[in-house]
Amino acid sequence: MLSGEGLTMRFGGIVAMAEVSFELRRGEILGIIGPNGAGKSTLLNIVTGIYRPSSGEVWLEGERLNGIPSHRIVSRGIARTFQSSRLFTDLSVLDNVIIGRHSRTRSGVFDAIFRRGRADRELAESAAIAEELLKGVSRDLFDQRHRAAGELPQADRRRLEIARALASEPKVLLLDEPSSGMDDADTDALMDDIRAICAARPELSMMIIEHDMRLVAALPHRVMVLDYGQKLADGPYEEIRRIPRVQEAYLGR
Ligand code: ADP
Ligand code: MG
Repeated sequence: MLSGEGLTMRFGGIVAMAEVSFELRRGEILGIIGPNGAGKSTLLNIVTGIYRPSSGEVWLEGERLNGIPSHRIVSRGIARTFQSSRLFTDLSVLDNVIIGRHSRTRSGVFDAIFRRGRADRELAESAAIAEELLKGVSRDLFDQRHRAAGELPQADRRRLEIARALASEPKVLLLDEPSSGMDDADTDALMDDIRAICAARPELSMMIIEHDMRLVAALPHRVMVLDYGQKLADGPYEEIRRIPRVQEAYLGR
């Protein structure tokens, strides 16, 4: 589905990523772990066209993505969330999802939301679709759909970011530390949501950067370990957690 070959990213003298290759299969969940500064977010930024790799290639279903601007990458079917929230906090939950939907088409609905009155019919259609999507991701979010996103508890904001990314109907969903700022109960609920999302979309492929080892042990089919921009290991969690270098680099902390 998605692959990277020999990805290297330099920032001045810093090598944030060195010759990393990976593969993500259709319907697969790939976990990405590694200490702070290991290059995890950099990898997502390369895949989504926010960073141009110093060398290496990214492929989506046999098409090379290098050099394609990030908004076009969304329309090719890759959506993501960010490590720090990027919601429109003054807009409603529902409007945030509508915007996510139209980051795929870029069809003036941005305008419609900011200047009510234009494209009313299109907006009503989008709202109906966005409501269905919210219902499927989390009943709780759906019930809060008319609240301002900024008023939501932290866990619901993270959930809303996932709903917004899903609104573009991606083939590949990339999550950067979805459980950050959540307690154990919230993380359990998040895992249930992700399971439900996958069950409803068997073709969806995911990459999840995560620190919470309960989630890493439970959800991904395979886990890739990054350390200082290098790939240390790649395999099922039960295998990679036994590798001494992996334990030193991360799990032992
Ligand atoms: P992680 O997400 O694993 O914590 P990052 O991918 O954010 O790590 O960062 C990896 C390394 O690349 C760090 O040393 C970070 O400082 C550096 N880095 C990331 N983005 C930039 C940037 N835009 N400019 C300079 N250095 C960066
Ligand atoms: Mg990061």
